[in-house]
Amino acid sequence: MRGIHLADVSCPMCRHHTESVNHLLLHCHMADLFWTSIAQWCNIPSFKARSIEHLYLISKASSNKNEGQRKLKAIFTIGLWFLWKARNDMVFNNIQWSVSRLTEEVKIWSVIWINNRHKKGSHIWNSWKTYISPS
Ligand SMILES: [Zn+2]
Repeated sequence: MRGIHLADVSCPMCRHHTESVNHLLLHCHMADLFWTSIAQWCNIPSFKARSIEHLYLISKASSNKNEGQRKLKAIFTIGLWFLWKARNDMVFNNIQWSVSRLTEEVKIWSVIWINNRHKKGSHIWNSWKTYISPS
């Protein structure tokens, strides 16, 4: 049939694997580099999440304080959102995001998110962008 294409099921970021939620957001080479970069910024050990549920368990286990857990959960959620955004930019606009651009976007949006949700003790951008302690 003319004009009807079989869907391309390969991962748009690496073209080496079948695209799935877990592959795209956690296991793809780019996602792996991205989460390593986020872990460094958050001052937590590098991790490899098996699933989205596991990712959130890691956010809980990486701090023994509620505040730290909430921050990490917000950062991880924004991270997932930006990986999805980067995927769509690749698929629809053929624009490839670098890991450093992804990380910078997450830093910017997570400070906005956290400052809006937690009125007490807002974070100062200059210290936030370079370092965040999970405690
Ligand atoms: Zn991939």
